[in-house]
Amino acid sequence: AERIVIVGAGQAGGELAAGLRKQGYKGHILLLGDEAHPPYQRPPLSKGFLLGKVALSDLYLKPLETYARFDIEFKPGTRVEAIDRSSREVSPRDGSRLAYDKLVLATGGRARPLSLPGLEGTRLENLFSIRSLSDVEAMRGGFIPGNHLVIIGGGYVGLEVAAVAVQSGLRVTLLEAAPRLLSRVTGPEVSSFIERIHRERGVEFRLSCEVRGLELDEARRQVRGVSLACHGVPERLEADLVLVGIGLIPNTELASAAGLAVQNGIVVDEYACTADPDILAIGDCANQPSAYTGGRIRLESVPNAIEHARVAAATLMGKREPSAAIPWFWSDQYGLKLQMVGLSTGYEQCVTRGSVEHKEFSAFYLKDRRVIAADVIGRPAEFMAAKRLVSSRAEVDATRLGDVAVPLNSIAA
Ligand code: FAD
Repeated sequence: AERIVIVGAGQAGGELAAGLRKQGYKGHILLLGDEAHPPYQRPPLSKGFLLGKVALSDLYLKPLETYARFDIEFKPGTRVEAIDRSSREVSPRDGSRLAYDKLVLATGGRARPLSLPGLEGTRLENLFSIRSLSDVEAMRGGFIPGNHLVIIGGGYVGLEVAAVAVQSGLRVTLLEAAPRLLSRVTGPEVSSFIERIHRERGVEFRLSCEVRGLELDEARRQVRGVSLACHGVPERLEADLVLVGIGLIPNTELASAAGLAVQNGIVVDEYACTADPDILAIGDCANQPSAYTGGRIRLESVPNAIEHARVAAATLMGKREPSAAIPWFWSDQYGLKLQMVGLSTGYEQCVTRGSVEHKEFSAFYLKDRRVIAADVIGRPAEFMAAKRLVSSRAEVDATRLGDVAVPLNSIAA
């Protein structure tokens, strides 16, 4: 029988394995993952799981037994080191060789490390990033009330950890290089709103902040302090623990070593195929054409991993179902739900609807009178309609859009 090998047992790999069976795939499925766990959801790692409100078993996409029941051969703790395209085999670290007919790379990414001179290769016991369950387990020991957590990076992960940490009684200072939070993904209105909700809870910020160095203890095992400069003014912060949340590096090394094109992710077409017809790539590690932007895009989100797994399952079943999805994402901070759709880059006008004061508003980003993106905050009932506005690209009247008395569904002209 034909054998599909999936490398990477994360959100995309897990969805694909199960999705193939649901679509009636009869061949052999081998799911290889280098972590100790079956595929799990990462979003709670910086939210409910870190807060202690979500149990480990609730993170799993499916209970471990399900893989056997679906006749999916799942091998945890198996890191694939190389692909041999001529013999169609992958080699895990143990030196064995596993044959494939079709190979799917679902290798995700790893946290971008802090690059500071003199620190290369130094392993520090209280310097963390969050990508996996084991990262969270390592960091938890430092989540002691009164401890000072310094977070480097004001993106979603840094902000979510800040929220959990203050709720757990830690003192938190967040350092961001840009003049505002979330600057790559949202407009100034939402950035300042997010800053406000964190300040209300006691998070301190240093914006336009350059990290100059880490002060280590004598044994060079722990960070004691962070030296920085805000608008050029030097400062030193003591730290009990430091979290680095400065983005992700896609895991593309297997693909590039096998001679596949890599450009901010493994290059695939709209059916998730690489230039090798037997190798596909999905999820955070893949760079795909986007019907939404008209260009190429690499997305880091659960909805993208799920959609991309669906596209790959169809391709592997001999169907052709290109991805038509628009990017969307969510975040939770202090129980407040933030939902984002589209990419606001290049917007000309931001229209807010609802009450920023009462933490219930949507921000719509317009270009050529069309909604290209929206941030929906504390108004989850509005999100579906916001998604439709972004995907339909209909012209809108900005005044009506900003008027909560006008139903969102009736706004497209
Ligand atoms: P992953 O889930 O990272 O899975 C890749 C797997 O492949 C990993 O287990 C990795 O160890 C394994 N692997 C890599 N190389 C090899 C190899 N050579 N051999 C074997 N195995 C290998 N998204 C949202 O939409 N909303 C959120 O609120 C949100 N919050 C997040 C919070 C955190 C802390 C993190 C880390 C991510 C969050 N995301 C969120 C992003 C989302 O989790 C990812 O986009 C999603 O997990 C991507 O799925 P993936 O399968 O592509 O990659």
